[in-house]
Amino acid sequence: MPSASAIAARSTVTPEGALPHGRPAAGRAFDPGCAACPRLAGFLAEQRVALPAHHNAPVPAFGDPSSRLLVVGLAPGLHGANRTGRPFTGDHAGILLYQTLFDHGFASAPVSDHAADGLRLLDARISNAVRCVPPENKPEPAEVRRCNAYLVHDLASHPAGGVVIALGTIAHQAVLDALGLRRAAYAFAHGAQHALPDGRLLIDSYHCSRYNTSTKRLTAEMFAAVFAAARAHLGLVR
Ligand code: SF4
Repeated sequence: MPSASAIAARSTVTPEGALPHGRPAAGRAFDPGCAACPRLAGFLAEQRVALPAHHNAPVPAFGDPSSRLLVVGLAPGLHGANRTGRPFTGDHAGILLYQTLFDHGFASAPVSDHAADGLRLLDARISNAVRCVPPENKPEPAEVRRCNAYLVHDLASHPAGGVVIALGTIAHQAVLDALGLRRAAYAFAHGAQHALPDGRLLIDSYHCSRYNTSTKRLTAEMFAAVFAAARAHLGLVR
């Protein structure tokens, strides 16, 4: 693997969190060697020593880019997506997410343990607001802004009339930023449905994190209702 400094040198995402010539309409294609965030690149370098069997690199989106459902989470978990290299795969949060995707016809299997388990997403894609694992699961605002270029790219291939499910406030804001929409015009609330100007529907959900599910802030029934709303908007009937 190239050094972090070498990767940073070729990256076109600036350390300040802005793209050098303004955000291009198509965003930026995923760079598996991106090290534009110094704190996160340093953390990953530490994990390559401490956890050498882990993926320990930016985690790409999972699923066909033209899928009508796009689920946007926060960031890879240290021993989940950062281990397996696939969003929510091996994470505690992935237990409810993949079960719910399967229950609503968006995944071929209910359990996502590792990247070679053969699970396929069906007309669905999973991405994150931040592609590198942050210490304590807490990305800094500048890191979310910097990584937004990749979400812009994800959304550029997301078809008109599709549904975006944002898991948590940070993901919700990242989607709005990526689409150039004012945050103040679309307040986050669990279950809120926002008709976006381009015809897409943004649905908010509490994040399916261990904390939220163990405290019952988010129940399986609440989460299922979000995905049922997505199915309804996409014209899918059971
Ligand atoms: S979080 Fe995003 S922008 Fe920052 S280093 Fe990782 S991939 Fe690059």
